[in-house]
Amino acid sequence: MSIYNNQKKGSLFVVATPIGNLGDITLRAIECLKKIDLIAAEDTRHTGKLLTHLNIKKPLISFHDHNEESRSFQIIDKLLEGQQVALVSDAGTPLISDPGYKLIQLCKENKIQVIPIPGPSALIAALSVAGLPTDSFRFEGFLPRKKNMKDKVLQILKDEICTLIFYESSHRIEETLIDLGDAMGPNRKITLARELTKLHESILSGDISSILNELRENNEEKKGEFVIIVSGKVDDNDEKSNQLDTFLLILLSELSVRQAANLAAKLTGSNKNLAYERALKLKN
Ligand code: SAM
Repeated sequence: MSIYNNQKKGSLFVVATPIGNLGDITLRAIECLKKIDLIAAEDTRHTGKLLTHLNIKKPLISFHDHNEESRSFQIIDKLLEGQQVALVSDAGTPLISDPGYKLIQLCKENKIQVIPIPGPSALIAALSVAGLPTDSFRFEGFLPRKKNMKDKVLQILKDEICTLIFYESSHRIEETLIDLGDAMGPNRKITLARELTKLHESILSGDISSILNELRENNEEKKGEFVIIVSGKVDDNDEKSNQLDTFLLILLSELSVRQAANLAAKLTGSNKNLAYERALKLKN
């Protein structure tokens, strides 16, 4: 990989790093970190450990929420001088609930090339195993900490039909699941992905109330870092037709199509003709 462009300016490489398991670093990320002149890191000690593991020695400067603004200007100066710079965060993909937005904006303003070196991100890892629709999803990051703001956001999100993704820490996981249950109902389906790629990885799926019970019964399940994947609001009609099919499949094994359809329609509050058509299809 050539990391030098044909301009005199340097490029900014946005490099994803592991979310736990160091084996998840990509070959391109290693190659890039070996070639650049400077690494801007959220926590230089944390990234220092990764670099030691990779046997890479490079100058590091801190780049976090509290110095993002001033550091961005300093990094732009270095890029304009021709230095090649990598941006990394403590875990996963920089800018995903991590600092870097200001720096990328300034790069665009200064016509400095920004190159992604993709790799792990907790939200994608969790979504890929959640067993919930992935064709359309909404990443919300961390919910607001203040209760009234959190409730306001959840009131808006409760009617969202696409899959919802949140980040959460161990300190607030139980409280957030209670708030999600209050806003969306205890039966809403979720997947709780904890400590992904790490020793104590666990992935629990079920409705909000049953996952809350599991957490309360087993304190270990409250520890670590979490991604919460929440099913979007299910159309009442879809839910009813799923229920209708479930009843019909049981009743059809004992009753005639007509009898099964009449009984299933009564049990689910569905239209009799619709239940009959569905029963015929299932029978065939
Ligand atoms: N940039 C990161 C990414 O691409 O996923 C996210 C950084 S954000 C500050 C940290 C949050 O991501 C954690 O509080 C947790 O919600 C989630 N997270 C990070 N690593 C995780 C892991 N191994 N398992 C589950 N969640 C994780």
